Amino acid sequence: MNNAISNNVQSIEISGIRKFFNKVEKYPSAISLTLGQPDFKVPQRVKEAMIKAIIDGKTTYTPNAGIIELRLEISKYLKNMNICYSPKEVCVTVGGSEGLLSVFTALINTGDKVLIPTPAYPAYESCVKLVGGQVVNYNLNSEFGIDFHELKIILDRVKPKIFVLSFPSNPTGAVLSQIDKNKLINVFKERDIIIVSDEIYSALYFNESYNSIAQCEALLSKVILVSGFSKMFSMTGLRIGYVCAKEEYMKHIMKVHQYSVSCAPSIGQWGALEGLLSCNEDVEFMKIEFEKRRDFLYEKLIELGFECKLPKGAFYIFPSIKNFGMSSEEFCERLLSEAGVAIVPGTAFGVGGEDFIRISYSYSMAQLEDAINRMGNWIRHLK
Ligand code: PMP
Repeated sequence: MNNAISNNVQSIEISGIRKFFNKVEKYPSAISLTLGQPDFKVPQRVKEAMIKAIIDGKTTYTPNAGIIELRLEISKYLKNMNICYSPKEVCVTVGGSEGLLSVFTALINTGDKVLIPTPAYPAYESCVKLVGGQVVNYNLNSEFGIDFHELKIILDRVKPKIFVLSFPSNPTGAVLSQIDKNKLINVFKERDIIIVSDEIYSALYFNESYNSIAQCEALLSKVILVSGFSKMFSMTGLRIGYVCAKEEYMKHIMKVHQYSVSCAPSIGQWGALEGLLSCNEDVEFMKIEFEKRRDFLYEKLIELGFECKLPKGAFYIFPSIKNFGMSSEEFCERLLSEAGVAIVPGTAFGVGGEDFIRISYSYSMAQLEDAINRMGNWIRHLK
């Protein structure tokens, strides 16, 4: 241990997704399907709103919680999805990332237990450890949904303070079904546990209706919703996310948010506002394109001998590589060095990711076709 550095910081590592992304630099002709960054342009109206905001001099600090116009629109947008938070219960953050860290910082005392799914987006575990919390994993079932039998046992045994829910999921593409939502409501209505629900991919789901635990008004006093616009408006670099929570949590989350960032970037906030007001069609277009890519990849992966679940949201597919007799790290290392395709080993998403790989289809169809051809040739010559 290095005494100069905090023990909590030393207990975490740089994300495995970035590690693999960085390796690609050594292979200039490789195709990278590693990042969760849509290849679509920011909607034209969002761009224009941001240019106007610059010209109008809207470059000062905004209120800590974000411009009221945006908080109002977020509240309305959520209302359309049957999620009821007032504008006062919304804080605009520097991406979902700052939202997550601010929430965990506000809630966690040293040693507090936090239940986190595995596999899952790696930031949950790292943020919890960073602020001294204790991570306890819960496994997902073979469909990447919640295993309720196991969940109830863990809840009774561990008695966590916080339960992290993550649908639509990065890395699996699974969504919350209506049945599972109802089961979750039954499990949590009796328990005194805070639910942190990360729904950053809520605009990208391919089934008919969207399910969120936050749609249950009776539970809303214990639900903290984290979301944002990086994926919805393809604006990852503009860094606008949000947190919704009832006043008793929000007033404390706001303190962390204020002292770490003051406010989210002003220009991006005006852009996100325009997105909510007028860019529904752009989001629908993107969704249809993602669905085509998903279908293409799913079919090809099955043809190549992968076991694979059809993703129902986000833009990731998470095939099993059990049939290939390699660890997920080895599979990805070899695929990169021998076939020139970079994807992320499932283990970057926790212990539950062993034997899986994550492929992001937030890349163009041409890149996906090229990558799948390379994979196919490589697999045919294996052994
Ligand atoms: N949650 C999940 C599940 C994610 O996949 C990401 C980004 N990949 C985030 C939160 C953070 O997103 P951002 O900070 O870009 O808004």
